[in-house]
Amino acid sequence: MKIVVDKNTCIGCGLCAQMAPDVYEMQGDVAVVKAGDVPAAQAADAKGAADQCPVSAIAVS
Ligand code: SF4
Repeated sequence: MKIVVDKNTCIGCGLCAQMAPDVYEMQGDVAVVKAGDVPAAQAADAKGAADQCPVSAIAVS
């Protein structure tokens, strides 16, 4: 499972880092993915955060 945050779209709300802190972290006012390849154990949290992102900045594939 690959996750990419579009830093140009992210508004830095911090929601994804709160929902899945093992996957996302804030760097300044944008979220970044800690590891591009997300372990299966964290996939549900990672996907849930992507679904909740208010500006749909997180792409999951
Ligand atoms: S939930 Fe979306 S807008 Fe908010 S910090 Fe994460 S990627 Fe950025």
